[in-house]
Amino acid sequence: MALTPGQTEQLLRMIESRRQVLQAELHEGIDRAREDSFGDLAGPAPDAGDESVATLIGDIDHADVSRDMAELRALDAARGRLQDGSYGVCADCGSEIEYARLKAAPAAFRCIGCQRLHEKTYAGPSGPSL
Ligand SMILES: [Zn+2]
Repeated sequence: MALTPGQTEQLLRMIESRRQVLQAELHEGIDRAREDSFGDLAGPAPDAGDESVATLIGDIDHADVSRDMAELRALDAARGRLQDGSYGVCADCGSEIEYARLKAAPAAFRCIGCQRLHEKTYAGPSGPSL
């Protein structure tokens, strides 16, 4: 393992503080969802237009929460790998992930090369459908 104990300690602290931010955001999101019940958003006499706005706002909140949850799970997994000693090793090719990349993205589980390949394979416009 190429990471020094000091580097591991620093990454663990970054993971912990990011987890706390996300957990606070998630709690806020849940509180907000409780306060902004559908009726409050749509007003006392909702017409079809108001209803669709309320639905849209609900969808945006849900997307926020889903993204936070996904990041929190990734950070939890990273913390688990730190504890079992498999942290900092690329899940795809098994080579070491650079410390600079881990500092920028502590939950990263792929080296930069494999991550670029993964994004090229799974993101971006899908090719012609014909
Ligand atoms: Zn790799």
